[in-house]
Amino acid sequence: MEPANHLNQPEYGAIERAPVPRNMIENSMFEEEPDVVDLAKESPTNPIDSDDAVYEPRNSRLLVRGLGENDLDEDEEDYESSARLLGMSFMNRSSNQRSTSSPYTRQQPSGLCSMPSAKTLVVGVLILVLVASIAMVIYFLPGCTFTRNGCKKDNSTMDNIYPNSTSGEPFPWTDLRLPGGVHPVHYDISLHPNLTSMNFRGNISITVQVTEVTNKMVLHSSYMNIVKATFQGKEVKILEYKPWQQIAIKFPEDLQKGMYFLNIIYTANLSTSYDGFYNSSYVDTTGAKRVLATTQFEPLAARKAFPCFDEPAFKSTFLIKMIREPKYISLSNMPKAKTTDLKNGLLEDEFEKSVIMSTYLVAFVVAEFNSVSKNVSKTTVSVYAVPDKKDQIHYALDTAGKLLEFYNTFFDIDYPLLKLDLVAIPDFLAGAMENWGLITFRENMLLVGNDSSPIDKQLVTSVIAHELAHQWFGNLVTMKWWNDLWLNEGFATYMQYTSIETVFPDLDMDTEFLSIRFKALANDALNSSHPVSSIVKTPEQVEEMFDSVSYEKGASILLMLNSTLTEEEFRKGVIEYLQAHEFQNTKSEDLWNSLTNVSKQPFSVAQMMNTWTIQKGFPLVTVTRNGTQVTLTQEHFLLNAKNAPTHDSSLWHIPLTYVNDSCSALSSCKQVFHLKDKTATLKLPDQVKWLKFNYRSDGFYIVHYDNEGWEALIEALRNDVKVLTHKDRASLINNVFALSRLGKVPFRQVFNLMEYIKNETETAPLTEALIQLGQIFRLLDKRSELHLVSRMKSYILVYFGTLMGNQSWQLESSVSKMTLRSALLEMACSLDIANCTQQAKHLYDLWTAPNSTYQIPSDLMRTVFKVAAQTEEGWGVILETYKYSISDPEKHKALEALASTQDVRKILWILHKSLDGSVIPTPEFPLVVNAICKNFAGYLYAWDFVKENWDKITQKFPVGSFAIQSLITSTTSQFSTKTHLMEAQNFFSSLGDKGSQMRIVQEAIETIKLNKRWIETNLETLQEWL
Ligand SMILES: [Zn+2]
Repeated sequence: MEPANHLNQPEYGAIERAPVPRNMIENSMFEEEPDVVDLAKESPTNPIDSDDAVYEPRNSRLLVRGLGENDLDEDEEDYESSARLLGMSFMNRSSNQRSTSSPYTRQQPSGLCSMPSAKTLVVGVLILVLVASIAMVIYFLPGCTFTRNGCKKDNSTMDNIYPNSTSGEPFPWTDLRLPGGVHPVHYDISLHPNLTSMNFRGNISITVQVTEVTNKMVLHSSYMNIVKATFQGKEVKILEYKPWQQIAIKFPEDLQKGMYFLNIIYTANLSTSYDGFYNSSYVDTTGAKRVLATTQFEPLAARKAFPCFDEPAFKSTFLIKMIREPKYISLSNMPKAKTTDLKNGLLEDEFEKSVIMSTYLVAFVVAEFNSVSKNVSKTTVSVYAVPDKKDQIHYALDTAGKLLEFYNTFFDIDYPLLKLDLVAIPDFLAGAMENWGLITFRENMLLVGNDSSPIDKQLVTSVIAHELAHQWFGNLVTMKWWNDLWLNEGFATYMQYTSIETVFPDLDMDTEFLSIRFKALANDALNSSHPVSSIVKTPEQVEEMFDSVSYEKGASILLMLNSTLTEEEFRKGVIEYLQAHEFQNTKSEDLWNSLTNVSKQPFSVAQMMNTWTIQKGFPLVTVTRNGTQVTLTQEHFLLNAKNAPTHDSSLWHIPLTYVNDSCSALSSCKQVFHLKDKTATLKLPDQVKWLKFNYRSDGFYIVHYDNEGWEALIEALRNDVKVLTHKDRASLINNVFALSRLGKVPFRQVFNLMEYIKNETETAPLTEALIQLGQIFRLLDKRSELHLVSRMKSYILVYFGTLMGNQSWQLESSVSKMTLRSALLEMACSLDIANCTQQAKHLYDLWTAPNSTYQIPSDLMRTVFKVAAQTEEGWGVILETYKYSISDPEKHKALEALASTQDVRKILWILHKSLDGSVIPTPEFPLVVNAICKNFAGYLYAWDFVKENWDKITQKFPVGSFAIQSLITSTTSQFSTKTHLMEAQNFFSSLGDKGSQMRIVQEAIETIKLNKRWIETNLETLQEWL
C-alpha cells in the first residue's frame, strides 16, 4: 500500500516535509522512561492508566502503549526496580480483569486470598511479583510475540475467561489472533452487489483443513448479517464476538484432522468508509452522479466483504464470481473465465481460480470504466479509469509495461499472473493498493494528462513502481504477521526508488530518496519511535505499522545494506529469498539468512541487520581525530527532554563509510570501517586535511565531528563546494541541524556551515536547507515572534534571494530544476517577496484572460494558485477550477491553494466540506487540514475542528491509520508553548479507546515538548545571529 501523496511529497514555502514531522527539538520527559508495555491492553476497560508498568527487555525497547496525565506531566524519573514494576503491571491487569464492566464471563473464580493479614499481604505481594515475573518472561518470549504456536497459554486463567458472544453464549476463543489448527485451503465466493440499494449478498464456501483435533472453528467477519451457515451440509449455529470481529462454530464433538466444507450465506451493506467492499461515487462532466463498488482490504477489511481467516499467513486460493448489471464491468485479481447470462437482466462473471495468496490482497471492482491494454511478455497489462478521464491512462500503461519488464528481469521470477490491471478509483483513501493482479490507485497517482509535468509523472511513476514491486515483495512472499510489515513496505519503497533510477533516470529519484532518508531519521530520533520489527496485537497497532519506520526507515536500511554488499550479492540474496519462499510467509530473519548465504563478506548480514531492525532509533557516530588516529564512538541518537544521560545501551553494527580530502567525490574513494562496539580506533595510512563520514548519506546514521573536524569541512566547502558530492553536502546540512536539536552543537555552528550555501547550486542541499529553515520559520511565526520572523526572512533572502530571483517562470523540462525552482519560489511567495508574487499574479492573469489557451507550468501551479487564492475573486476562480477540472494534478494544487486562504470563514467552510465529502471528497480531508495548518490564520481553527469532530473523523478513518496520523501531526507539530502542550495532553487523554493509546499521540506530545525546549534554548542565539 502507498499512503496518500501528501504524506510523501515535500513541500516548501510555508514549509513542511509532509505531516510526518521533522521535529524541532531536544527533549522530552519520555527520556528516562523506558517504553511501556500496556499489559492491561487486553482488557477493553482500560483506556488510560498512568501506572502502566515500565519494562525494558534486554534488546528491544517495547512500545509505550498507555498515555496518562502522569506520563505527560510527571517529570520525575522512575527508577523503581523492575520487580516492583512488574508487580504493578500484573496487578493492573488483574484488577482490570476483575472489573465488573469487563465483557469477559469469568467461569472460574479467582484464587486470590480475600482477607489478608499484613504478613500474608507481604507474602502475597512477593508471590504476585514472582508469578508476574514468570508471566512476563513467557509474555516476552519471541515465540510468543510473533508466532501463534509459541503462545498457547494452556495453563493460564485466560483460557477460562470467555467473552460473551452477541447471542449471550460464551464465545469459545479469547485471542485477537485466530487459532492455528484450522487452515483455509480454498474459497468460493459469489457476490451480488446492488449499486442502487448499496448492499450486497454473498455466498461463500470455504474448504478448510483441520491440522489439530479441535471442537471449534474461529474466523473473521465484520458488519455482516449471516442468513444461513452449513458445515459439511448441515446447518450450524454461528457465534459472533463483535469487538474482535470474529465468528465461531462450536462442535458437539471433536473434529478430526482432515478437509471440511463451510458454507455461509450473508448480506451486508456496502461500506460507507473507505475499506471493505465500499461504494464510491463521483460527479461526471455532465453533472450526473455515478456510482461504483470497489474494495480496500489491507490490512484488516477483507472480513467486511466475506467471512474469512483474515491474517496474512492464512494463504489460500480464491474463486470469485460477481453478479452485475450489464452496464457495469467487473474486475478481480484473476482474468475472467466466463460470463453467464442469468436471464433476469443480470450477468455473472466468473474469474479463474487464483494463485495462493493472503486475504488482504483479494480485490474486486464493479464500475463503468474505460481501458487500454498491451502485452508485456506473457502478461496483459491494462489501465482503467472513468470514461471522462480515458485520455489520461496512456502514460501509466507505458510506464507499468517498462517497470514490469524490469522487475521480471531483476527478480529473475516472472510475474505469475496472465493479467495485471491498474485502476484509478475516484474515491480512494490510500495512495494505491497492490492487490494481486488488480492494483487500485487514487486518480492523481495513476492518471497523467497532456499538460502534466515531469514532476507529476515522477509521482505516478513512483507509485506504480512501488505497487509493482509488491507483486513480488508482499504478494508472492508475504510477511507472517504485521509486525514485519516493513518486509513489504520497506522493500517496495526501496525498489520504487532503485527501479526508477534504472528505468527512468531523468526523473531524478535519487534526490527524492535522499530526502525520505532524512525524513526517516527525523522520525526515528523520537523516543516514541519503534523498532522496524515491532510487537503488534490490536487492530490499531496493525494500522499504526503503516508509518515512516516501516516504509522509509525500512527502505533506508536496505540501501545501506546494498551499498555495503556488492550490487550483485544483494540482488542474488533477494532472488534466493523470493525463490525459497514463493507463495509462503516469512519473517525478517528469512531475508537476512538468504543474504547471508550468498554474501562473501567477512561478517554475518543477519547479525548486522538485526541491530537495525530489533531496536528502535539509530546511532550518532562521533569522530575525533588526532593526526592519523581517529576515535569513533557510537551512541543512540535520541532526542529527549532532559540533558541527563540516557543509560541507553543500544549498539549497532555500523558499516561506516568515509572519504577524505585526497579523494572524495567518486565511489571508488569510499572506504569502509565496521563499527560494532561502543568505541573503536581507526588508523589512517596518511595525514589528511579532513574526513567526511557516511559517504553520499547511504548509511542510516548521523555523524558529529570534533571542532577541528567541522571547521576543516566547512573551510573545504567554502573554498570549493565540489569537493563533496551534492548528497554529502545535503547530509552535512541535515546532520548539523539535527545535532543542534540534540544539543551537541551550538546553533551558531549551523549558521557557520550555512555560510557556504551562497555558492550552492544543487537541488538536494538547497532544498534540505530550505526545509530546515522553513521549519524554524514556521515555529517562530506560530509563536508570533514577529521581530524574529522578519529577521529570519531577511536571512533567507540573503542566502537564497539571488537564486530565487534567477528562477525562470517558463516551461522547464528537468525534474531536478523544477524541484529546486518550486521549492525556492514557493518559499519566496510565502514570504511575500514582491518579485515572486508579482510574477505569480502575472501568470494567473495570463491563464484567466478571456479565450486564453495559456497553461501554467505544472510545477509552478501550486505557487501561482496560492498567491491568487488570497483574493476573494481569485479564490472563487480556483474553487471553480477545483470543481470542474478533470486534471487531477491541477485539482490537487487548486485544493491546496484554497486551503491556504487567510480568510477564516473560508477555512471553516473548506474544513466542513472536506469532512462531509459534499464538495471535496472526504479522502482529501487530511490534505486540507495539512495545508491549512501551514498558515498562521488557520492552524488553530483546524486544531479545534479536529478536536470537535473527532468522533466523526474516526468513523471515516480508522484509529491509527495514516490519515489519522497525518491529522494529528499536521495540527500539533507546530505547537511550542506550555498552554498548547497542556491542551493537547488534555484532548488526547480524553479520547479513551478512540485514540489515546496511539503511538502518534505520544509522538505529538513529545514533539511539542521538543519544540518548546528548542525555542527556550535557542531564542537568544537566534536574536543574536539573525
Ligand atoms: Zn506499499
